[in-house]
Amino acid sequence: MEKMKCLIVGGGPAGYTAAIYASRANLSPVLYEGIQPGGQLTTTTDIENYPGFENGIGGQALMDAMRAQAVRLGTDIRRGIVTKADLSSRPFRLTLDSGEEVSADALIIATGATARYLGLESETKFRGMGVSACATCDGFFYRNRDVAVVGGGDTACEEASYLAGICKKVYMIVRRDVLRASQAMQDKVMNTPNIEILWNCNTQEVLGDLSGVTGARLKRKDGEVFDIAIDGFFLAIGHHPNSEVFSTWVRTDENGYIITDGKTSRTNVEGVFAAGDVQDPLYRQAVTAAASGCRAAMDAEKFLNM
Ligand code: NDP
Repeated sequence: MEKMKCLIVGGGPAGYTAAIYASRANLSPVLYEGIQPGGQLTTTTDIENYPGFENGIGGQALMDAMRAQAVRLGTDIRRGIVTKADLSSRPFRLTLDSGEEVSADALIIATGATARYLGLESETKFRGMGVSACATCDGFFYRNRDVAVVGGGDTACEEASYLAGICKKVYMIVRRDVLRASQAMQDKVMNTPNIEILWNCNTQEVLGDLSGVTGARLKRKDGEVFDIAIDGFFLAIGHHPNSEVFSTWVRTDENGYIITDGKTSRTNVEGVFAAGDVQDPLYRQAVTAAASGCRAAMDAEKFLNM
């Protein structure tokens, strides 16, 4: 069985940044990237809020650059999905989808989170052409336009409020007659004049043409079907942290996010660190994920040199 000093699981901003720092600290990191190298950012178009790029940068281009930087500094990047983990003792043992088993003295989990989508065919068709699961990433492109946000939780309310500052009108498509969000967030959306809540509504179809999204067809609980004209369709129905493989050993919160110790990346298992969206239900930004990847590599270095 191949034994590694520092194993990083996940190829997004957190994983690549951890790899950059771990390489420079001579930890000889091996990074496994899964089915979507580059992570969630590769599904967005331009990123205008990652510092250092005056005119923005494409999500794929940013991830390619981080990956290339990690490789240049010496990270061994491989394709592979971790399907099983035994973190009961060190070295930790992990099984890959190929069936291969590897072991590691230190493990950095940076497997990210996956935005939940409704599962409509039309939603997939217009992904990146008006359908997005990140208002902070893509909202700017809808200045003075009409958009819709699906969901009634804190994320939906935050995204609707953010979009209301940019867009002409924001519809919130809420499937019940109540919001799940905290009272403060509810008050905020209710008191924002250009947010209109469409209660008891489910999306039947995202409408569009070659230019992208043009509307959405909704069905109200009373059976009425109607269309709204919009240019952007934002999903905010929750994220799913990719922590299952590790959750037998690593403590998670009730939503599956890995719990880390204070401002560090340390998990409850000594030698196992978590970075990026898999441990962050709140910020979920490329720059915060990258920063936590840095922390994880520094924590791993400290641990390995103890
Ligand atoms: P939540 O699970 O809290 O809310 C998801 C929302 O999406 C609910 O309104 C739910 O409706 C709706 N929904 C789910 N599935 C569908 C579907 N198929 N069709 C239509 N609507 C659907 O997720 P959030 O991402 O909003 O929040 C996750 C956690 O993060 C929460 O604990 C939240 O409090 C926290 N958070 C905190 C913030 C803060 O404090 N600033 C900011 C953002 C998140 P229903 O209610 O009917 O189930």
